[in-house]
Amino acid sequence: MSVSPYVNPAVQAFVELVLSRATAGLEYIEVRIVSLGGSRFELRHRHDASADSTTLETHDLAGLRRLARTNAAGAFRPNKAAPGLRRGWIFTATSVSELERALDHLYPGTLPDWFAGRSATPPVTPFKEFTARQTGLYRITQILPPALAARTATACCTERFCLRQRLWTTEGLAPDSVEAKSVVPCLEPCSLMLDLARRAMKLEQEEKVSLAVAHGDLPVLAAALERALANPDAGVREGNTMDAGNPRRMQLLLEAIRPLLPSKEPAGATE
Ligand code: SF4
Repeated sequence: MSVSPYVNPAVQAFVELVLSRATAGLEYIEVRIVSLGGSRFELRHRHDASADSTTLETHDLAGLRRLARTNAAGAFRPNKAAPGLRRGWIFTATSVSELERALDHLYPGTLPDWFAGRSATPPVTPFKEFTARQTGLYRITQILPPALAARTATACCTERFCLRQRLWTTEGLAPDSVEAKSVVPCLEPCSLMLDLARRAMKLEQEEKVSLAVAHGDLPVLAAALERALANPDAGVREGNTMDAGNPRRMQLLLEAIRPLLPSKEPAGATE
């Protein structure tokens, strides 16, 4: 008796979707996947979509794993769904199984989430329910006031840091749109979010100092933070929220300032 090979339903659905896109291909976070016919697929960075393939460096599976580990500056990428996947490479999968492994090297564990996200009722865990399970160091996240939880999620999950479409919610914060992020959903808070939530609550509990800032200086403060965020210090670990130069810490402060910023003056307005 012959036994049919098992085909993972997530992989099968994914391949069907790629095939349905023909030469337009499918964008999966920062990777563009195009069917080459049969069971062959081409993967490259989406920003290299129109590049001549002879100008791109051919990688094997092990090369993809190395590629995803660090950004162009050589810094470790704790969140593989963060923008900043390096460009200039090309990979050809010669079977469905190779395509599956390639995706798992570039974006570990995302295919099951992608598949689950397509169901009528994706298995999403809201922030409150997720933190209710936390113990030890992270128990403190259970007491985040709703507004702070929303601000922390806004800071942590912005497309500047993560291209997964956040489907989980917290009071006062709607899910992300596919357009702003990608087709890959985030079904529950990740460790980076949990750590930032802990840091946010610790800061909330600290004694406060009063600082008189002129209304007109608030945009200066916001611009300084934006500039620092656009030019992150490569020596600061993304996961270390103890570091004052941590980008998510800076984004958290920026989100606190944002509601206080004056609305933009119409173009041409003078004092
Ligand atoms: S919790 Fe936020 S930062 Fe973490 S994977 Fe989900 S969307 Fe990305």
